[in-house]
Amino acid sequence: MKDEGIERRIQQETRAQAKQIVAVHHDLHRHPELAFHEDRTARVVAAHLRALGLDVRTGIGGTGVTTTIVGRANGPTVALRADMDALPITEQTALPYCSTVPGAMHACGHDGHTAILIGVAAVLVTLGEALPGSVKLIFQPAEEPVSGAQELCAAGVLSSPEVKAIVALHGWPGLPLGAIDATPGPQMASADTFTITLTGRGGHGAMPHLTVDPIVVGAQVVSALQCIASRAVSPLAPVVVSVTSFQAGEAYNVIPEEAYLRGTVRTLDPALRATIPEHLRRVAEGTAAAYGATAALEYRESCPVMVNDAGVAAAIREAAVPMLGAANVRDDGEPSMGAEDFSLYLERVPGALLRLGLGDTAPLHNPRFDFPDAAIPIGIELLCRVALRLLQ
Ligand SMILES: [Zn+2]
Ligand SMILES: [Zn+2]
Repeated sequence: MKDEGIERRIQQETRAQAKQIVAVHHDLHRHPELAFHEDRTARVVAAHLRALGLDVRTGIGGTGVTTTIVGRANGPTVALRADMDALPITEQTALPYCSTVPGAMHACGHDGHTAILIGVAAVLVTLGEALPGSVKLIFQPAEEPVSGAQELCAAGVLSSPEVKAIVALHGWPGLPLGAIDATPGPQMASADTFTITLTGRGGHGAMPHLTVDPIVVGAQVVSALQCIASRAVSPLAPVVVSVTSFQAGEAYNVIPEEAYLRGTVRTLDPALRATIPEHLRRVAEGTAAAYGATAALEYRESCPVMVNDAGVAAAIREAAVPMLGAANVRDDGEPSMGAEDFSLYLERVPGALLRLGLGDTAPLHNPRFDFPDAAIPIGIELLCRVALRLLQ
């Protein structure tokens, strides 16, 4: 099969599969499962893959599923990854396939990603030897807490066979349907978390001079932390330091002994990321000391900066242009300060995350978010073409 022949075949097979895969998406949407509890989802994925005659591995890093579509022998292997988990949100759409689970919803479109990757399997198995190598499909649990990728990498999903490149897709509201974005460089932020424990001296609310009030100290620390982004780091380098939780005290008339600040740190630069804990420690300890209190910082690195490889991003765009037209293939995406644990794969092998246009739907993580049916076949055909391009 010549290139043009194989691309036409991908297009025809995608059209033939589209209706069934849209139905798979609706089914997954009705049955959302939170991180590391994707048991039904993993069963549905494995059943579809086995029905295609594929060898399937399950239970990887919890509920992960993998399979490899073997084409021409001795060819390279590339990987495609979909995430499977839902969010703790109660759905507020009026969709006929609305979530049936109170307090859980596929509001990040991972049901769409999973269905698309099942569709990719269904199309690629029809290519046989015309596929110039092998394509490993990775269905990952627990992207939302940015911990599933860690489990899967530790389980060795990128080896045996060795993966040469990896691509993932994420639905992107606001990007028109039929458009994609594959921008090289840092595209998603690192995400770390911290807890600052402030210890003062508790006492009577009416006699504050006999106490060291950790709540007043905490208020000063929250304000002082804003100076990391505005005064300690170059204005040209994006950094977010957000205190998202402030807990202390239980009574109207008691000044507590301790206060707890929790929050998140985001950057787009690995070197800058490494400097932030020291800033946090200095500001917290110094501010607390000024009021006679003490501060203890606990800092947890969670997810690195997601850096799209320039070569893989270019290959995605080359694969997309004949399908979508040059005007719909973007390379000027604005980085997001959101995080994506796909970054952990990209620390190990070259790869890129492409944004798939979802058009005018509600934002990600919104209770009215909807992954439109029309994006499903676009995602399938595109990922098949991208895999082909990377194998060539
Ligand atoms: Zn999300
Ligand atoms: Zn997501």
